[in-house]
Amino acid sequence: MTISLCSLIVPCYNEALAIRVFTARVLPVLEAIADTSWEIVFVDDGSTDATLDELLSLARADARFRVVELSRNFGKEAALTAGIDAARGHAVIPIDADLQDPPELIADMVAAWRAGAEMVLARRTDRLSDGLLKRQTASWFYRLHNRLSKTRIPENVGDFRLMDRVVVEALKRLPERQRFMKGLFAWVGFRTVTLDYVRAPRAAGQSKFSGFALWNFAMEGVTSFSTAPLKIWTYLGASGAILALLYALYILLRTIVSGNPVPGYASLFVAVTFFGSVQLISVGLLGEYIGRIYVETKQRPAYLIRKIHGAASGVDGVARSGD
Ligand code: UDP
Ligand code: MG
Repeated sequence: MTISLCSLIVPCYNEALAIRVFTARVLPVLEAIADTSWEIVFVDDGSTDATLDELLSLARADARFRVVELSRNFGKEAALTAGIDAARGHAVIPIDADLQDPPELIADMVAAWRAGAEMVLARRTDRLSDGLLKRQTASWFYRLHNRLSKTRIPENVGDFRLMDRVVVEALKRLPERQRFMKGLFAWVGFRTVTLDYVRAPRAAGQSKFSGFALWNFAMEGVTSFSTAPLKIWTYLGASGAILALLYALYILLRTIVSGNPVPGYASLFVAVTFFGSVQLISVGLLGEYIGRIYVETKQRPAYLIRKIHGAASGVDGVARSGD
């Protein structure tokens, strides 16, 4: 069997504590997989701690490590994109630096890939390492998203997965700047196999996603893959108008039949505030989409690279310079 080059993509944002633990655990696993050679592409997503120094010393010592240094913090989605763009492997595997994705699964992923899968998903069977609130909101998000959008995101599947080169090339062709990776991964399709695993708690450091960041993430997901939130307002507005008309008719008849009606401040107040708020929500939703259109039309790159360090690192400079 020929030896295939595989790439591990590791986005790192302030992971100085986690990196050594990560490599110590991952390297033996990778070395044990037969007929593969590995490159490990770390993306330093503008870390403010010693992450970059750690990564550089790794890259100096071992030619398998490469470090893509972004010019500032661009967020995990952009960092992942940078890593995927820089990867050269026949198979590409994004993995978190905090060891929440078990590296041991990589052997099974490679086996499934060799057996013909173009995309191998890793599905968490339980999320006990996440808090109850995070689990519940995540499950709501998937249900809402999959109801609204034609692109179904598989539940409990993260960025940890194996992608064949054909999938990577397909991903690179997607031009959008705001990259909701879970959605893009699902959108490209390809022959997919799913493996199950149990998600571990973080090895070191703490989660970078707060409640509000997750909310924004969910908004991004829904609005980049569905226009349903834009469209439902027409129907809501129409049914509201019909109801209001019927009510007006009813008041008219009542006035004719029983004369002087009771002063209706309460119902008036309710109606005004209700429809006022419905309008505000719909305006807000329009804003979400227009904001996204605005960002896309600026055509800014998803990330900027300061330098790529490591073995024959190739092009320095601006993202997507076409390789
Ligand atoms: N990450 C990143 N840029 C960011 C935030 C996070 O590259 O702006 C990386 C982080 O270093 C880690 C991965 O994304 O390797 C997942 O982050 P985290 O563990 O904080 O997310 P969670 O597991 O809580 O969803
Ligand atoms: Mg994590």
